[in-house]
Parts: sequence; structure tokens; C-alpha cells
Amino acid sequence: MRDLLKQHIPNITEEACDKFVAYYELLIDWNTRMNLTAITEPEETVKKHFLDSLAALPFLPENARVADVGTGAGFPSIPLLIMRKDLRFTLVDSLNKRIVFLQEVLKTLGLSAECVHARAEDFGRDPKYRAGFDAAVSRAVAALPTLLELTVPLLKVGAKAYCYKGDVGGELETAKSALHLLHCTAEVMPVASDYGARTLVICTKNAPTPSTYPRKAGMPSKKPL
Ligand code: SAM
Repeated sequence: MRDLLKQHIPNITEEACDKFVAYYELLIDWNTRMNLTAITEPEETVKKHFLDSLAALPFLPENARVADVGTGAGFPSIPLLIMRKDLRFTLVDSLNKRIVFLQEVLKTLGLSAECVHARAEDFGRDPKYRAGFDAAVSRAVAALPTLLELTVPLLKVGAKAYCYKGDVGGELETAKSALHLLHCTAEVMPVASDYGARTLVICTKNAPTPSTYPRKAGMPSKKPL
């Protein structure tokens, strides 16, 4: 695992290597008791989980407050936090078992982040969190129109949501209405990968989100904007 990490992640420190190894061991152990990931082979884990998660790393402002919406087993937030301790993460997931796993990961790795068990729709309406983030990240959670409704309300005006995607061709077209209603603009950034198309869709919030969004839990995916 250490050799793979050094081979795939440029300039990785020994300390970061230790943390990725400990994270991998916890993932494999807890995965026997709960559904965390289908990817368990070391090289696949380094490439498809760890390295893939780091795609937004160069774009996140220093000391940024960042929300990871639908974090699951901690992707992309845990790899980002291992590499950038300045980032102030809030990890959100609707499945409490995954939040319990993430609390154990943070404790073992000696990292600090806030973990919240909530539906993103409710989280985005909570005044404690709404419009309070410098960035949002989200990977493998929903189609783009749904994902925009779950992430954009969390952002300060001028901040960006980094949506981790595969091939986004058609999806961007279907997100036109969501982009308009949520007052944001999107750009597509290809991510280097040797196992198929990977992209970051970077959405900038240009004005406050209308108070109607996000709609009540379930609606953003049932009736995408
Ligand atoms: N982001 C992780 C990754 O890339 O491996 C997890 C992806 S997993 C396919 C989707 C995760 O999003 C699950 O953990 C699920 O519980 C969470 N999720 C889906 N819809 C959600 C919502 N509306 N609010 C909060 N979490 C949600």
C-alpha cells in the first residue's frame, strides 16, 4: 500500500502515507460488517478512491469551510483532509452507520472534522449550515440537477461546488434549468484517469439561493429541477 501511494500520489509525506494505510485498514475491516465499498483491492482503492478524491485538492481555498454531501465511507473528504489539514470539513450522510464509521476513522487518524447525520435537503435548510460554506464537494451521490439542489444552498455567494463525475456529456444539458433556478454557472474540468472518463463539474454560486430550495427530502431526486 505504501509503495502504491508513493507511486500514484505525488509529493505524499510519510505522515500522509501512514494515515492512508490506517484508513485503508479500517475500510477493509468495517466493510466486513457494513456496506462501505465494492472496491477493496489495494491498487484499485488508491486509484479509484484515494487519488480520485484528490481531484479538487488544488482548487480548495486555504482554511476553507467545506461540506462533503453524501460522504459515504468518506470520499472525497477524508483523502482531501489527509492531504490538507487546513480544511474545515463537515461530513454529511443520511446513513448513521456510515457516520459512526467516519467518527472512528477521524479518531484513529488523529484528524478533526464535523460529522452530521442528516438528509442533505434538511441540512441545507438549517440556518447553522445554509450559505455558510466556502466550498462543497460531492461524489457518486446523484445526477447533476439533484446534486446542485443539495449543494448550492450550502455555499456562500461566490463559492463553488465540486461535483465528481464520470462522463458528463448529457448530464450538463439536463442541468441547465437547475443552474438557472439556483443562480449558478458550471464549468467542466477533465480529470486524468486510466480507467475511464472522470470529470469535475465546478459550479459557482452567483447569487443567494431562493428560499424554496432545497425542497423537502426526496423531492430533488424525485422531481429534479
Ligand atoms: N461519496 C461517497 C463515495 O464517493 O464513495 C459515497 C457514495 S454513495 C454511492 C452515496 C452516499 O450518499 C450514501 O452514503 C448515501 O447514504 C448518501 N446520500 C444519498 N442521498 C443523500 C441525501 N439526500 N442526503 C444525505 N446523504 C445522502
